[in-house]
Amino acid sequence: DGLTRATPQFPRYARVNVMRTSIEAMAEMLKASFVENSTRESNCGDSMNLKRSIFMDPHVPDLLVMHPSASSFLHQDHDAVKSGKIVLQDKSSCFSALALARGNPNISLNCDFIDACAAPGNKTTHLAALVAASLADVSRTTKKGKNLTQSSTIFAFERSSSRFKTLKSRIDAIVPSSSLNKSSTKVVVQPLLSDFLKSDSKDPQFANVRGILLDPSCSGSGIVNSLDRWLEDAETDGNKDDPTTGTKADRIKSLSNFQLVALTHAMSFPSVDRIVYSTCSVNNEENELVVGKALSEVNKTINGSVGDEWILVAPACLDHWPRRGNPEIGGLSKTQAQCLIRCDGLDGDETNGFFVSYFERKRVRSESED
Ligand code: SAM
Repeated sequence: DGLTRATPQFPRYARVNVMRTSIEAMAEMLKASFVENSTRESNCGDSMNLKRSIFMDPHVPDLLVMHPSASSFLHQDHDAVKSGKIVLQDKSSCFSALALARGNPNISLNCDFIDACAAPGNKTTHLAALVAASLADVSRTTKKGKNLTQSSTIFAFERSSSRFKTLKSRIDAIVPSSSLNKSSTKVVVQPLLSDFLKSDSKDPQFANVRGILLDPSCSGSGIVNSLDRWLEDAETDGNKDDPTTGTKADRIKSLSNFQLVALTHAMSFPSVDRIVYSTCSVNNEENELVVGKALSEVNKTINGSVGDEWILVAPACLDHWPRRGNPEIGGLSKTQAQCLIRCDGLDGDETNGFFVSYFERKRVRSESED
């Protein structure tokens, strides 16, 4: 039709950090900011009221949804963002920690976690908030005169030293230093300047790790909202238009190889029972293909020795999310693809393009347990 397609305008999403403040306090503060920032606009009335509305997201708890124009005042330099009360995070990127913490409501979160590729720390700090809320709930319901201390450490790996600095400062701002509170729950985030691929899955410090969040470097091909560009890995960013680093297809192949190695390494941790693998890419090679290859590689090895099996599970917390994975890529069946979550920024999802997979380990009971 000769017209250029405009980049879609997404709502402004703001994740409220309930470890530091409340939804009500942040909603009040944002309402006041809307009024302050729109007094210069003459056009009041219904459309202005709609522009100033603040909604709760139907899928992600604690996520506020606002008109895109809120980005004019709610940005990285806003006091509430700098002080860690609000995290500016796209809705799709909240699905990773949510799936790990609430993918299966029957699994306890009273354990340790690893975030394998953590900087700048949006998903690490989201996981910390979800774990803290769950442990506080458990200790409320089990408190029958006993002082039960629930605790969790989240080990946050980052191999780039410059991105590690950002990770550390975001953790300091967002996670209360000792969140040991009235309900006797404690969540500690321990940043590690270290390569996850070189980590020892049998290291005793990881003996209580039951869950891994793996959100590795990717092509970032799903990011359509330019406000979120900074999330991408600096390394892949730098390579984008450099002809010496090969074609786009070569780059995606090498990312896909790295992602597969990282996912199978995560699956090799003996104490780990659940994993989330996510990317902000829309390429099958970085998503379904990696998932399919990892399942066939790991289940072949495990079946040869112990007999445990890794399976894909549809995260219960995202039951109502309609867009699912692509079948027949990497040997995935239709049923397996239905477990996968996809977001499409150019097809009405009002998020960046994103991919989330949630795995659980099915342990084979040894005879001594029977
Ligand atoms: N999960 C992060 C968030 O939501 O804020 C974004 C992660 S970004 C897509 C990937 C990060 O993984 C980059 O900071 C990159 O430096 C780091 N990384 C890549 N390979 C790694 C490895 N082998 N070990 C640890 N970190 C790695």
